[in-house]
Amino acid sequence: MAEVPSARLNKEEVRYRQHEKCMTCNYFYYPNSCEKVEGNVSQEAVCTKWEMQKKKEPMDGSSYMDEFKKANPQ
Ligand code: SF4
Repeated sequence: MAEVPSARLNKEEVRYRQHEKCMTCNYFYYPNSCEKVEGNVSQEAVCTKWEMQKKKEPMDGSSYMDEFKKANPQ
């Protein structure tokens, strides 16, 4: 069995966190669009602009298509 190093950092020192992902970000639009960052983004990724998700109004069909076209330029 591998030995655990003795001088490890505590979680506060390293800002240990679990829920900062694009999918929990205020700027994320399912399935892969972002208000802040251009191009497709991954639900599992994160960037320095992450912000806790607030409740959003549901997008109507045309808003969804606008977001989809922005994320998937032809
Ligand atoms: S702002 Fe950053 S963390 Fe938030 S959805 Fe866009 S790329 Fe992801």
